[in-house]
Amino acid sequence: MVKKLSAIIIVALCVSSFSVKEKPQKSILDIPGYHTLKCDFHIHTVFSDGKVWPDVRVAEAIAEGLDAIAITDHLKYGKLGKYPEIQEENRNRSYEIASEAAAKSDLIVIRGAEITQGMPPGHINAIFLSDANIAQADYMDTFEKAKQQGAFIFWNHPHWKSPDKDWEQDGIPQWFDVHTKLVENKTLMGVEVVNARSYSKEAHQWCIDKNLTMVANSDIHTPIALEYDLKEEHRPTTLVFAKARTQAGIKEALINHRTALWFENNIIGDAQFLDRLFHESVKVEKTEYLENLAVVTIRNESGLDFILENIGEYSFYNKTNFLEIEAGKEMILLVKIGSVKDQFNLKVSVKNLLTAPDTYLTTNLTCNKTGVIKDKKQVK
Ligand code: ZN
Repeated sequence: MVKKLSAIIIVALCVSSFSVKEKPQKSILDIPGYHTLKCDFHIHTVFSDGKVWPDVRVAEAIAEGLDAIAITDHLKYGKLGKYPEIQEENRNRSYEIASEAAAKSDLIVIRGAEITQGMPPGHINAIFLSDANIAQADYMDTFEKAKQQGAFIFWNHPHWKSPDKDWEQDGIPQWFDVHTKLVENKTLMGVEVVNARSYSKEAHQWCIDKNLTMVANSDIHTPIALEYDLKEEHRPTTLVFAKARTQAGIKEALINHRTALWFENNIIGDAQFLDRLFHESVKVEKTEYLENLAVVTIRNESGLDFILENIGEYSFYNKTNFLEIEAGKEMILLVKIGSVKDQFNLKVSVKNLLTAPDTYLTTNLTCNKTGVIKDKKQVK
């Protein structure tokens, strides 16, 4: 027994710390039929109340490996923006500077604006504008102007704890009649479920119940590196499952709710996309048998770490029911299967893939027998 156990432990030790290729740089894999595009649709510059010039936003996005950004300066600051030093009436200017800066890269820059009202309806972003000079005295007229340009319009941070307002101080968002009206007349199509460092489970549930597109954005005002330690973390990002890596492709995906939210080490989205993303990332490489013990090699090919809970019928010899399979790494699981089987499933709950508030993706890792480990010494 001691000999057998030591052989098992050696198998586990030899392989569990083995790194696959070089570590992918936070890559999130495409899923069948779609590009997975990393996007931030809510960004400010000095042309409203941000702290940086628009070309810096482009450099930051490229450095972070984003596919697309939208420049969405507030329309609210009169003709001068927040800073009197910036004498600019043209609301397109920040987009133009960013767009020019991105011209030699493959970063997609989207023209947008933030339509800033008190609650209701709160702050609303319009992106894919052709002209950002849309501000009207009545915000409903501003929305209409954006709609006429074919904009995709979403509600920003409905849960925001405004420091100078008397609404939403408890962090719980409230849905008003005007939002129902804006959804019914096909103006409002999405909601920020994640804004900067906040996640709203209430807004998440609205998107599911009302069939709205979920987005996750940084709403960044300062230099991004002042807010995020980019060696360790990333800005909140909307993952867009696009048929084409173009502005039109992104817009089509947004209209058809093909997004997921990358927030901290979580991905939030519809089960159909999360399941595909998980299985593109985590593969069962081989399933060998050491007598009646299945030695399963699992590889995580993505740049995401996954946290799994074993909820199936078999337990593990070398792990508890909670497993973390790190980005770019392999893991050996010794499964107490009881007998040699041609195929069995490991049923897991993926604790950092949220398909609804407090609900995690449940899926199977199918293990097909690939061989038998006969000579335990050789494994060493
Ligand atoms: Zn904003």
